[in-house]
Amino acid sequence: MKLNSLRGMQDILPEEIHIWHYIEKNARELFEIYNFREIRTPLLEQAELFLRSIGEDTDIVEKEMYVFNDKKGRKVALRPEGTASVVRAYIQNSLFNNPSPQKFYYMGPMFRYERPQKGRFRQFHQIGVESFGISTPTVEAELILMLKQFFERLNIKDLNYEINSLGCKKCRPSYRDNLFIYLNEKVANLCNDCQRRFTRNPLRVLDCKAPNCKNTLKDTPFIIDFLCDDCRMHFLSFQKELELMKIKYVVNPKIVRGLDYYTRTVFEITTTMLGAQNAVAAGGRYDDLVESFGGPKTPAAGFAIGMERVVELCKEITEIEPKRPFVYVAFAGQGMEGEAKKLVNMLRKNGFITETAYENLSLKNQLKRADKLKVEWVIIVGEEEFKKSMYKWKRMKEGTQGEARIEEILKILREGN
Ligand code: ATP
Ligand code: MG
Repeated sequence: MKLNSLRGMQDILPEEIHIWHYIEKNARELFEIYNFREIRTPLLEQAELFLRSIGEDTDIVEKEMYVFNDKKGRKVALRPEGTASVVRAYIQNSLFNNPSPQKFYYMGPMFRYERPQKGRFRQFHQIGVESFGISTPTVEAELILMLKQFFERLNIKDLNYEINSLGCKKCRPSYRDNLFIYLNEKVANLCNDCQRRFTRNPLRVLDCKAPNCKNTLKDTPFIIDFLCDDCRMHFLSFQKELELMKIKYVVNPKIVRGLDYYTRTVFEITTTMLGAQNAVAAGGRYDDLVESFGGPKTPAAGFAIGMERVVELCKEITEIEPKRPFVYVAFAGQGMEGEAKKLVNMLRKNGFITETAYENLSLKNQLKRADKLKVEWVIIVGEEEFKKSMYKWKRMKEGTQGEARIEEILKILREGN
């Protein structure tokens, strides 16, 4: 029987891992400059955490979650996103006792049982941040600025910043009622899911991806026309902040996001370079979530970046060189294998990526291997030279060679590294 990975779950091979490292390194460096610190939460949580935060009528909870019973019959789920877990950790560890703002970032796999396609997997990776404790829109503006700098670092251009406001507990109900009246007339043309969602949670209908529903819902009322004064002020000052920072954005009143916990600001960053799966990052404010899980009232906001899509973009625009061994140590002659091993250790201690033959190969075959590995340098530990405390070196690209003492070899390697 041939054993393959599960559908929608892919291996990330060493030949592309350097791109992942490059993106992760940039995220870590930049987010830490903004005073976000890493938090690592479990991949498996009580299913209820996600049901209650993301919302029961959302795509994620309705059909995309990996839920199962553990050996004691407890209902657990593989995390489909990061925010709920960070909120849980924030409350469980009483992190609200620390001074505000509390700022966290995370990176790792998420799981959603979706139809796999380009840019959409069942195990995918996100880098996300969450900022707790501050209610002013300067927080969302900072999140957007940080995202912009992140994509600038990676040289990813031509992104669209789309924003919207979803209002709050005070004003959303009146929008909801209005939307309900509007949808009531169209309900016969909606998909089965939407017909059910429409009575339970009409906003969810706006997030439906079915082409027919999208078409039917072209002229829905817009939530921004229903915002209360506080929410409208919040949205306006958010936009003012973006303008001050010279960030180009568009207000897209159709963004409702696929999760129920958002309040006020929501945003999506999209690209035209990836076809249908065009969102590379998304986020927003969730001022009620901490409290709804039993924590103190804590305003908060965050975003998540889709790693696989960013990796795709990086592959298209930049040549990032994979890591290769730099030096190959070969040996020939009596007792030289042991001397070669010592040299390998010494080179590795000095930080050079070093490879060698692990078996007794002829010098010719060792050199063939070195060639296949595309190393820059070969150092040969040969009997005659060793007696004079010398080593033979070869520069592979130029085809030059010579003999030198170890101090001198280290010096040229350092210069050429
Ligand atoms: P989409 O509209 O593409 O389904 P979403 O609204 O479900 O996205 P979020 O929950 O906001 O996505 O997740 C943030 C980001 O994570 C997305 O913008 C996207 O880049 C990435 N993402 C989400 N689901 C997947 C997936 N199944 N495979 C790969 N990346 C994903
Ligand atoms: Mg989705």
